[in-house]
Amino acid sequence: MPSLFRIDYHPDGKVKNITSTKQGYEQVVKRYVSNFDAAQFCTSSIVPYMQVIHDRISLEIARGCSRGCRFCMAGMIYRPVRERSMQKILEIAETTLASTGYEELSLASLSTGDFTGIEMLLKNLMQRHQKDRIAISLPSLRAETLCRSLMEEIKLVRKTGFTIALKQAPSGCAMQSTKTSLKMTSCIRSQRYLKQGGS
Ligand code: SF4
Repeated sequence: MPSLFRIDYHPDGKVKNITSTKQGYEQVVKRYVSNFDAAQFCTSSIVPYMQVIHDRISLEIARGCSRGCRFCMAGMIYRPVRERSMQKILEIAETTLASTGYEELSLASLSTGDFTGIEMLLKNLMQRHQKDRIAISLPSLRAETLCRSLMEEIKLVRKTGFTIALKQAPSGCAMQSTKTSLKMTSCIRSQRYLKQGGS
């Protein structure tokens, strides 16, 4: 609470001190879900009658991002990286699909392509749900994490959307200081995969 802190400034306007005005408020203690498998997930959400944006199940498979781009607030505040286990994701997907009747499942996270075992997860989901024509979408991918096998799995049911984050810095130096490591070749390669796959 800003009102519980006093801020002193240097003559040039920079912050000199931040002092708590209430005892026990000297430090902020970060709270976060340490065991992501135990985090709650609503498996029986309300299904609207009309078509809405994001008209699908959005299953958060991981929280946090290991890339640490310096300009990214979400990457900083959602630290540390935590992933749901494959078993838990499969369980949640099964229950939520059965209770909502949705035909699309989106695997959400800050950088879904960085999920450990993303290819195996997609294979498992397809094996279980392809017969029911459940499509899978990947809403947040770094260009270098998109590969042909991911495309092939997704195409088994129908082509869904891909959201690829193209973060480019103007020079090697800027890339280093912002910690973005995306190369133009990766962007072109993933764009080629998408085009070949018909997306
Ligand atoms: S990869 Fe994306 S989500 Fe991760 S830190 Fe960078 S900008 Fe943020």
